[in-house]
Amino acid sequence: MSSNVRVRFAPSPTGPLHMGGVRTALYNYLFAKKEGGKFILRIEDTDQKRFVEGAEEYIKDALSWCGITPDEGPGIGGDYGPYKQSERKEMYRPYAEQLVENGKAYYAFDTSEELDAMREQAKKMKMPNWQYNAVSRTSMKNSLTLPEDEVKSRIENGDPYVIRFKMPRNEDVRFEDVIRGWVVVNTNNLDDKILFKSDGMPTYHMANIVDDHTMAITHVIRGEEWLPSAPLHVLLYEAFEWEAPKFAHCPLLLRPDGNGKLSKRDGDRLGFPVFPTDWITQDGEKYSGYREQGYLPGAFINMLAFLGWNPGTPQEIFSLEEMVKAFSLERVSKAGAKFDADKTKWFQQQYLRAKTNEELAEMVLSKYDDLSVDKDYLAAACGLMKERATFIEDIRTEGSYFFEEPKEFDAKTVRKKWKDDTEEIINEWTNRLRSIDDFSAENIEKAFKEYLEEIGKGIGAVLPAFRVLITGKGMGPSMFEIASLLGKEKTLARMEKNIPLVKAQKTEA
Ligand code: GLU
Repeated sequence: MSSNVRVRFAPSPTGPLHMGGVRTALYNYLFAKKEGGKFILRIEDTDQKRFVEGAEEYIKDALSWCGITPDEGPGIGGDYGPYKQSERKEMYRPYAEQLVENGKAYYAFDTSEELDAMREQAKKMKMPNWQYNAVSRTSMKNSLTLPEDEVKSRIENGDPYVIRFKMPRNEDVRFEDVIRGWVVVNTNNLDDKILFKSDGMPTYHMANIVDDHTMAITHVIRGEEWLPSAPLHVLLYEAFEWEAPKFAHCPLLLRPDGNGKLSKRDGDRLGFPVFPTDWITQDGEKYSGYREQGYLPGAFINMLAFLGWNPGTPQEIFSLEEMVKAFSLERVSKAGAKFDADKTKWFQQQYLRAKTNEELAEMVLSKYDDLSVDKDYLAAACGLMKERATFIEDIRTEGSYFFEEPKEFDAKTVRKKWKDDTEEIINEWTNRLRSIDDFSAENIEKAFKEYLEEIGKGIGAVLPAFRVLITGKGMGPSMFEIASLLGKEKTLARMEKNIPLVKAQKTEA
């Protein structure tokens, strides 16, 4: 199925991509794929002052980690390139001038000192929010107030000027947002926005509209923070007599307590990342990312998708392909979405569990390349650990006894479960283990049950001590499975070596 649907994700490379930005990219991607359309990446880098080295690479790398692959974009190509605004620079001025000619925009020569003076004066007159608008423009220096020949000569002389949009007075701008329904804004609240700056670069509004039009964008899906700009954008489409794309403004991501927008500083402060991948500033300050914290990309985007969208069914785990099928903008809510760190961990656990033991083993080996273990052995250990692990790291640390002998013994278990008769019970259990020929989990379990029966004791009299001797831990997967996997030789060696150590620890305590 192919359609004319074309959407774009248009980040400005002013820093790393916040997870809210990744969610916007994801919704764009899901919508495009669902509709059989195209997902475009456009880099909006017209604001040279806010340009941050490395941000564009960060954005591309983060999207690629998430599996959100653009169909067109910088470095990918496509019929509507270039896809970086700085490389489209020459295109914008003629469009701005077209608006001046049509009487929809005008040249303004006011210097920043003059504008500051105006603001000061207005403040004194108890009008703190002075704006360049339909009223004030009549007393400013612009092509609407200055004689035509002066305008001409100023431009020819190279006087600095900007091009401003001539915001109509007291008009209701209406548009239907796919997520929010009808939005109505009166133009009296809007100012004569600068479209073209004196440095020869378009502003965000100008470049954004020209690009969306020339790239044949059909739907603008972006964050709620752009909603206040939408009326101006609608008016610009009208001024150009272009058909406007459909707008969909996604809800904000809120802090876990619901108090305000999730900001880039919240993450490390509240103990979870707000960025997809690590970002190190030029001053060496680090903001942590999901990738480096050990999250699987599938878990990360599954969690993100649910921040503001739900499928309307109880299903929560969705692969990217399944999400494409289930997604619709109509099911995106307009209320802000609260980030939930526990739920994020839950998604990660589900994704980790869904991996095969062999896949997990590969992941352990690629994270810990100094680990020398047999692959089948490792896969079996992963199989035992996966129900209890959230991250690959947990398999290595919580399951350390699969890789090395325990050096410490869980204090609480030793204190509470190593009783006066434990040594004797455990010594005999060691003898029983020695006599098992086929050291399978079933056989160990069978011997264990027979032994308990014989001595008339409960599980708690033997199992915790057995566990702490073999693993050093107070909890973990089935001890019969662990012992069988370690093998008879290692199991017996650990029993013999660790009984005196645990006993000594008990006496000291
Ligand atoms: N460059 C804007 C941003 O950084 C794009 C807003 C839009 O999608 O129109 O988010």
